[in-house]
Amino acid sequence: MKSLDEFATGKLRSLAARSLLRTLQPTERLDGLWILRGGRRLLSFCCNDYLNLSQHPAVKAAAQAAVERYGAGAGASRLVTGNTPLLDELERRLAVLKGAEAACVFGSGYLANAGIIPTLVGENDLILVDELVHSCVWTGAKLAGAPVAVFRHNDLGHLAELLQARRRKHERCLIATDGVFSMDGDLAPVHDLAALAADHDAWLLTDDAHGIGVVGGGRGSSFIGGRKADVPLQMGTLSKAVGSYGGYLCAAAPVIDLIKSRSRTLVYSTGLPPASAGAALAALDLIEGDAALVARPVLKARLFTGLMGLPPADSPIVPVIIGDAAAALDAAKRLEADGFLVTAIRPPTVAPGTSRLRVTFTANHPEAEIERLAKALRAQGLGR
Ligand code: PMP
Repeated sequence: MKSLDEFATGKLRSLAARSLLRTLQPTERLDGLWILRGGRRLLSFCCNDYLNLSQHPAVKAAAQAAVERYGAGAGASRLVTGNTPLLDELERRLAVLKGAEAACVFGSGYLANAGIIPTLVGENDLILVDELVHSCVWTGAKLAGAPVAVFRHNDLGHLAELLQARRRKHERCLIATDGVFSMDGDLAPVHDLAALAADHDAWLLTDDAHGIGVVGGGRGSSFIGGRKADVPLQMGTLSKAVGSYGGYLCAAAPVIDLIKSRSRTLVYSTGLPPASAGAALAALDLIEGDAALVARPVLKARLFTGLMGLPPADSPIVPVIIGDAAAALDAAKRLEADGFLVTAIRPPTVAPGTSRLRVTFTANHPEAEIERLAKALRAQGLGR
C-alpha cells in the first residue's frame, strides 16, 4: 500500500494535470462587494450574498447582540442545551415566510439535506433527482440507502416516465430538485413538479438555497408567479441571500417533529451559533419589509444578460459557459487583471466540457461596473 503522503501527492498531481486542483486563497470581504485578495482590491461577482445583508448594519448589530446575550457558541445539540430562544423564533419566521406549518433550523444547508432525506426514505423507497441537483442532495440520498433514479434536467416528461415505470415497486417516493439551480441559475418548474408528484403519490423536496430572498417576492421558488406551489418539503439555507449561516426545512408540523427527533445531523450536531440565528432574524425583517431590495439582484443580472446577448436571467446567477477547465481558469485570471473576481467553476461541480464563469449579482452592484464586466468578457470573445 502507498503511504498516506504518497497517495495524497499522487492525487494532487493528477488533479493539477487536469486543471482541477482547488486551493484556498486568503480572502477578506471588505463591504460585500469589494474583496481583498493577494494585496489587491477586486470587485466580486461571485458571492452568494445576493442582498449584501451579511454586511448590513442591522444584521451585524443583531449578530453582536445575540453573542452578548447568549454567547459565541450553542454549547451542545439543540436537544440538549443548544436550543436558544432565537432558534424557535427563527423557525416561526421561516414557516410564515414559506407558507408552511412549521420549520426546523439546522447547522447548515448541507447538513439539512444530509439529515432530512435519510429520515424520510430508506432502502425500500425510491428517490428521483434532477441531474443538476446540489451535492448535498446526493449526499442525503446516499445516506438514505434508497435506489436513486436521475431525471434529465427540468424534464417533466422524463420524470413522468420514471414514475410510471418505477413508482409502484416502492413504498415511499421522494422527488428532489433545486428550486434555483446553483450553477446554471435557471428555475425548476416547481408548480408542475408539485402536480406531478401529487399525481404519483410522491413527496417533493425543493432545495431553495438560491431562491429565498431573491425569487418569488423573496419567499422562494414555491412562490414564483405569485401563487404558492404545494411543496411539502421546502429546504434552504440562511447562508446566501439571508447573509448569515445555517440551513432549514419548512414542512407540516408532524414532519418537522419527526425531523427534530430523528435527523442525525440535527440530533448529533451542535446547534447553530446564536450570532447566526440573530443575524438571520434581522435579515428576514429586511427581506419581508423591502420588496425593491429583493427585486434588485435579478434586475442587475438581467442588465448583464442583456449586455452579453444571453437569455434574460431568472435569478441572480448567470453562467458564462466556456467548456474547457483550463480555459475557464484562464478567463477568470484575465478578469482578475481587470479588477474583477469571478471564480471558474470546473468538474466535478459541473459536467466535463461545461466549465464556466459563474457570475452572480447582488443588490448593490453598481450598473457601471456591470457594464465594465460585460465589456471585459466581450473583449475575451465571450457572450453573443
Ligand atoms: N444547496 C444548494 C443548492 C447550494 O448551492 C448550497 C451551498 N453551496 C447548499 C445547499 C448548502 O448550503 P450551506 O452553504 O448552508 O451548507
